Amino acid sequence: MTQVPNVRLNNGVQIPQIGFGVFQIEQRMTADAVRAAFDAGYRHVDTAQMYGNEEGVGAAIVGSGLPRDEIFVTTKLNNDRHGRDEAAIALDESLERLGLDHVDLYLIHWPIPAQDRYVETWKGFEKVVADGRARAIGVSNFTVAHLERLAAETGTVPAVNQIELHPAFPQPELRAYHDEHGIATQAWSPIGQGGELLRDERLVRIAEKHGRSPAQIVLRWHVQLGNIVFPKSVRPERMRENIDVFAIVLTDDDLATLAELNTGRRLGPDPDHFG
Ligand code: NAD
Repeated sequence: MTQVPNVRLNNGVQIPQIGFGVFQIEQRMTADAVRAAFDAGYRHVDTAQMYGNEEGVGAAIVGSGLPRDEIFVTTKLNNDRHGRDEAAIALDESLERLGLDHVDLYLIHWPIPAQDRYVETWKGFEKVVADGRARAIGVSNFTVAHLERLAAETGTVPAVNQIELHPAFPQPELRAYHDEHGIATQAWSPIGQGGELLRDERLVRIAEKHGRSPAQIVLRWHVQLGNIVFPKSVRPERMRENIDVFAIVLTDDDLATLAELNTGRRLGPDPDHFG
């Protein structure tokens, strides 16, 4: 079974670099999917209040018999629960659904600039990490401007920023900002949702050269950049494929070719306008 290395977050907490994402997995299928992911060697699960499947994640954890401290669980605050007290109450509700007394990472899912409450929300997050209901706190879909505002108005640097990131949308400026400020980069839709990206001829050629799949090459690209990823699949053979990337070594030429895949186009919403 593949051993996944950890990344050390800015408060010392360790997170497995590859996890399992459960967006768009129905509640009734989630426990089986997460159990299969544990069997494949995953020990990090990325869910969210919005995904409506925290109970399934919790059932898989309880059913696995794995020690709690061997599993890393992330959940995310729903967009309609912003606010200092509300963020903590929403986490308690997540913990109830998950059947856990703490999560490993709690994220603000989207900044929702139109609500203008993410600074206040972050103060609630500082409270939940102080009282142990989350081992680390972070954000998702924040731009440099949102991160700078948190830095100016609060005392805690997010442990991570979880953003759309894949070779077709590599976000170099935001990644550089993260590196400069000790924020780990988490890449969502890491394999471009399994779409067009994986069929790009240039990528397919690199995959053939290494005797690997296009998805594995893209996931290895993330790992070499230092990104934390959690590809989603409900198929056990793909779960195993997506975690088995640590023996691949991409050359400078491969990386230069992958840099050509940047289209500058997002698959998902623009955080400045979403919500
Ligand atoms: P992804 O890039 O992980 O793609 C998943 C899809 O790719 C699958 O549904 C499947 O169709 C296909 N696939 C999986 N493995 C494959 C393989 N080996 N070969 C070919 N196709 C394969 O996209 P995603 O699910 O959007 O993102 C992953 C995770 O990121 C989510 O489950 C969620 O946890 C997180 N996420 C977070 C946000 C956010 O706003 N923070 C947004 C979207 C996703």
